[in-house]
Amino acid sequence: MLSLLRRITQEVTAAQSLSAALDIIVRRVRRAMRAEVCSIYLVDTNTQEYVLMATRGLNADMAGNISLKADEGLVSLVGRRAEPVNLEDAHIHPSFHYLKGTGEERYRSFLGVPIIHHRQVLGVLVVQHEDKRRFDEGEEAFLITLSAQLAGVIAHAEATGAITNLSPNAIPSGSDFRYKGIPGSSGVAIGRGVVVFPPADLDVIPDRISTDPEEDIQDFYQALDAVRQDIRRASNRISQHLSADEKALFDVYLKILDDNSIAGEVVRKIQEGNWAQGALRQVIQAHIQQFNRMDDPYLRERASDLRDLGRRILSHLQEKAPNLSERFSEPSIIIGEELTASMLGEIPIDKIKGLVSVMGSGNSHVAILARAMGIPTVMGALDLPYAQLDKVDLIVDGYLGKVYTYPSEALIENYQQIVDEERQLEEEYETLKDLPCETLDGRRLSLYVNTGLSADIARSLDRGAEGIGLYRTEVPFMVRDRFPTEAEQVVIYRQQLEGFAPAPVTVRTLDIGGDKALPYFPINEANPFLGWRGIRVTLDHLEIFMAQIRAMIKASAGLHNLKIMLPMISNVAEVEEALALIRRAYAEVKEEGYDVKMPQVGVMIEIPAAVYQVNELAELVDFLSVGSNDLTQYLLAVDRNNPRVADLYNSFHPSVLRALYSIVDQVRDEGVGLSVCGEMAGDPMGAILLMAMGYDVLSMSSTSLPKVKAVIRNISMGQAQAMLDEVMKLSHAEAVTQTMTRLMREANIERLIRPSKTNNVD
Ligand code: PEP
Ligand code: MG
Repeated sequence: MLSLLRRITQEVTAAQSLSAALDIIVRRVRRAMRAEVCSIYLVDTNTQEYVLMATRGLNADMAGNISLKADEGLVSLVGRRAEPVNLEDAHIHPSFHYLKGTGEERYRSFLGVPIIHHRQVLGVLVVQHEDKRRFDEGEEAFLITLSAQLAGVIAHAEATGAITNLSPNAIPSGSDFRYKGIPGSSGVAIGRGVVVFPPADLDVIPDRISTDPEEDIQDFYQALDAVRQDIRRASNRISQHLSADEKALFDVYLKILDDNSIAGEVVRKIQEGNWAQGALRQVIQAHIQQFNRMDDPYLRERASDLRDLGRRILSHLQEKAPNLSERFSEPSIIIGEELTASMLGEIPIDKIKGLVSVMGSGNSHVAILARAMGIPTVMGALDLPYAQLDKVDLIVDGYLGKVYTYPSEALIENYQQIVDEERQLEEEYETLKDLPCETLDGRRLSLYVNTGLSADIARSLDRGAEGIGLYRTEVPFMVRDRFPTEAEQVVIYRQQLEGFAPAPVTVRTLDIGGDKALPYFPINEANPFLGWRGIRVTLDHLEIFMAQIRAMIKASAGLHNLKIMLPMISNVAEVEEALALIRRAYAEVKEEGYDVKMPQVGVMIEIPAAVYQVNELAELVDFLSVGSNDLTQYLLAVDRNNPRVADLYNSFHPSVLRALYSIVDQVRDEGVGLSVCGEMAGDPMGAILLMAMGYDVLSMSSTSLPKVKAVIRNISMGQAQAMLDEVMKLSHAEAVTQTMTRLMREANIERLIRPSKTNNVD
């Protein structure tokens, strides 16, 4: 049963269009359940009617041409109840409605199950029999399971169906296809897409128009030949260790390569316009599908041989392809299935107009980096047919988390107005650079920046930052192919410390793990955010920790503006251990003759356990910095990187606000430095509430800094406290943000944050 379910889901997932996907479902389900009829009805979101989309058993000519009203028939009853309806004789049920022309009159028994995706009923899957008999429990359970598995695929096919069928040559323009994602970094980008992808992964290869089909065909044949030779060599090398049976496997590989059907199909796809890598992906995937469908387990296994061969041919093709940085002749919108910080590191920053990632969420580290660089970004655009968007015109709306493909002139004009307004706002912000961040009634806040890139330094100073509240050292670690040496680290940290001296620079020890992987130090865990992350990794690897601490201290020689911060602290022992090591490193560096002072040491409060031990921690260190990103994730048990639960991730959740308030309350009289360096501090709404609670140092991306300053300078502490009092009474996160939006509008400060048109562009 499980393998049958898996096979059906695989086939449907690989379908090239919505109608093909639905057709596979009705055909396969009818066969699997030995039903006489299987049909799919989908909800038309405009009329709320249930449209018969595909059928086996009823009159197929009616598919797409006939529908049931929202309150008509058994199908809509299934939809309204969002529960299965299983009847021995449908005809005698009061909701039965005969659909003329379908031939349904013959069928008496009826089982309909809803197709639900993200709480929304997308449609109904129905099976029917002529004779009067109830479908048994096993059959009902099978259909429910299948429907639950297919709902996501159908939702995806529905959302992308409009363009998945296009050949690369047939590009419509002016069609405004819209895809919803999650805001990653505010701003608007209008430009052309460039799809980036990790090497040697056939599944993520985009379709792209071939610029020279003849050359592509030649490259493909050369790659094919190279793989043939690789296999022959491998076969000869190990043949004496293999049995005849095992040796035969190599012959199978060679046969597949020599079989002209695969090579011929790839060549044909190239001649039709796709580039060699895209053509290869199409053909290999289609053949894998065929093998997967076979009942014989031996033949099904051949699918993995084919996948392996496909990957080998691909890597030879990719050896010839230009590398990432050569592909950017003009500033573009970078699209990827899962953009990573290291991918960004390979692209010149001035060539990035906007970013779109299918996976990830607003608090993924790539989104945080994008905010630091001021690049409009949409994350978690799950339904985006990204593989088909190379060189396609796009608009990225980082305010609302939307991506438009093939935008019309009118839409481009609308968005251009927002871009112009953004420019005006930027000019206004310029005038604030040297003014203090002070409320109307004289309350002074210090605004620091979060950095990670060396390019951040000039940008941050330019925007009036008073220090660095968080330097994420993992960023320079990510863009290398091995750990940087102690000497290399000294140079990197010195840049930051020197750039800001005499202002303080808070350097955080390596916080890898979670969604921050180093390409050369993979950590594979089922639950990475609850696993080996941050201080847990570095305390287990003293060589990494000590080299980093020594490098930080050496880099501060003569400047004396270093503060060291420890991430992911969940208990007092970790701090005690780290402090002892830092003291040891300091003594060593001093002994080597460097002019250094013992730096201030602080910890991040970002795990709920630390909130409850904040006093004990405060006694050990010089400062505390609240990481609201992780604190939100761990308090709410919502993965900050998972687009599926992104709606639940909310730093304005009353529990998060109460935790933040309680931290200040607990340490108000301790004399310990206290700041917030999570993304909430850079959100003007968050900054007002944090200031009202009593936080007086906020650290944020340099992009957010002028916005926060503009807002704080236009509000009084009294107003902020009144706002805090009002929202602390609320029990829903949405109510908090709605109330704050209203209060900020009434205080006339909302206009300082974003262009006025961002809420009503389409
Ligand atoms: C945080 O968790 O709020 C934080 C600032 O650290 P990071 O986003 O790097 O985990
Ligand atoms: Mg964190």
